[in-house]
Amino acid sequence: MPDCFCEGMGLGLRDRVLLKIGVSACLLGEQVRYDGGHKRNQALLDCLSEGYELVPICPEVAVGMGVPRPPVHLITQGAEIRAVGVADERLDVTLPLTAYGQQVAVAGLGLSGFVFKSRSPSCGFGTTPIQNGDGSHHYGNGLFAAQIVQILPELPVIDEVVLQQPVLRALFLRRVDGYGQRSL
Ligand code: SF4
Repeated sequence: MPDCFCEGMGLGLRDRVLLKIGVSACLLGEQVRYDGGHKRNQALLDCLSEGYELVPICPEVAVGMGVPRPPVHLITQGAEIRAVGVADERLDVTLPLTAYGQQVAVAGLGLSGFVFKSRSPSCGFGTTPIQNGDGSHHYGNGLFAAQIVQILPELPVIDEVVLQQPVLRALFLRRVDGYGQRSL
């Protein structure tokens, strides 16, 4: 059993209902990335899979972008942030990704937390490069993640890279447990 298992859990395993944590599906090994690959994160699985029910969600597949698919990135356009094709900016998936984020947030899906894939135009949490139009960029949320955190500001969320830090992971899991207990 890995060292990280059960960090931050307030209840013994036998006493607890498995709380659900949403996870960007590629991190769980699902082959949903634009190139048909995945980004399986074994450390995440080692830490979370026995104590929680992990719910895979891939917004880009959910909105029908398919696998494989042309990669998209985020650009600023006036006051807006849009998700457009890297090779052809006429491909604009801003609306479906935003609407899907709203749909998942409103439905809730019984989730008590979310682990987001780093740097993704859909799933990134504070880590996604956003092109400014003058050759520079800044970092922000992917369009799906942005809706989740806006509509569910109390939901514990974390970036997959930050999750590797033991103290921050323990804090996240404590928040997940607290959120889940309030929702039962
Ligand atoms: S949209 Fe999210 S879940 Fe899907 S491949 Fe990209 S990062 Fe992974």
